[in-house]
Amino acid sequence: MISEMALQTIRNFAMEQNILLNEPMRGHVTFRVGGPADCFVEVCDKEALRKLCKYLKAAGIPYFVMGNGSNLLVSDAGYQGVILRVQGGMNEITVNGTCVKAQAGATMAQVAKVAMEHGLTGLEFASGIPGTIGGGIVMNAGAYDGDMSQVVKSVEVLSPDGEFWTLDNATMEFGYRTSAVKGHAYVVTEAEFELTPGNPAQIKAVMDGLAAKRREKQPLEFPSAGSTFKRPEGYFAGKLIQDAGLRGFAIGGAQVSEKHCGFVINTRPGDTTAAEIYALIKHVQAVVKEKFDVELEPEVIFLGEF
Ligand SMILES: Cc1cc2nc3c(=O)[nH]c(=O)nc-3n(C[C@H](O)[C@H](O)[C@H](O)COP(=O)(O)OP(=O)(O)OC[C@H]3O[C@@H](n4cnc5c(N)ncnc54)[C@H](O)[C@@H]3O)c2cc1C
Repeated sequence: MISEMALQTIRNFAMEQNILLNEPMRGHVTFRVGGPADCFVEVCDKEALRKLCKYLKAAGIPYFVMGNGSNLLVSDAGYQGVILRVQGGMNEITVNGTCVKAQAGATMAQVAKVAMEHGLTGLEFASGIPGTIGGGIVMNAGAYDGDMSQVVKSVEVLSPDGEFWTLDNATMEFGYRTSAVKGHAYVVTEAEFELTPGNPAQIKAVMDGLAAKRREKQPLEFPSAGSTFKRPEGYFAGKLIQDAGLRGFAIGGAQVSEKHCGFVINTRPGDTTAAEIYALIKHVQAVVKEKFDVELEPEVIFLGEF
């Protein structure tokens, strides 16, 4: 519950229509489950973001920064605190020669498209990943042999002390679906990509080919958060889950996709609970551990009480 005084302060940094109270999170995440956030704020500029983070930290009010919610499982009890969503309001993209700069709220698809239109190659892999630049940088999002670490020149972050820092690629310490800023109270505000001149038609053909592959292999017709688990060293999560006999296994409306066992999907949006998805994730981990002695680590991030 957010106090009236806290709300008054939040109103100084965000427009009334961008502040939602008791807001169901299921409408803001691709899994389409999740209870209410005490307060949900759509952040439209980085100075407002700085002031909000600074105030919430000083006031001891829990807050969480999200992008497009495409890698989040929010609990049925929701989130007690303030969700700061960095998305459509902070989505400027500029191109200067072979360098593309994008604010954290731009989607990876938008930035990849702008790069393609300017005849710049390197971001094709990101065109089908349904997250923001902020989420993509934090997670070092990647697909089809590409990832953010290969094209990022620098990243602007808001430090826990409320200062803007520019970190170069090496300082970002990108790893498999991780980076130095993951889980460390840094907020990504902007990223700069160094790309290579290419042919727009060829770049588009590559993107179209990757999109077709996704449609063929992934259960895009169901809500999900993409691959539920990280790839364990030396294995493929989907293959292990399939070999464990879990294809199609369901708990309530949560199901191991029949099309791609690496995806846990929501087969009954509006009815499925986050608890069912969570229970299924735990079950899959336990069965794979028992059968193959492999620990599956979730790629999905859990928010709230489970
Ligand atoms: C159908 C589908 C397919 C997918 N395919 C892929 C794929 O091929 N490759 C891949 O890597 N991922 C994939 N994903 C997962 C997801 O799209 C990525 O992890 C993406 O990077 C998440 O971005 P987001 O903006 O949605 O972040 P969110 O889900 O909103 O947040 C994810 C994490 O990033 C943090 N975060 C978000 N924005 C910021 C910010 N500005 N500053 C600081 N922290 C921030 C959040 O706090 C959270 O910890 C897929 C998901 C779906 C639903």
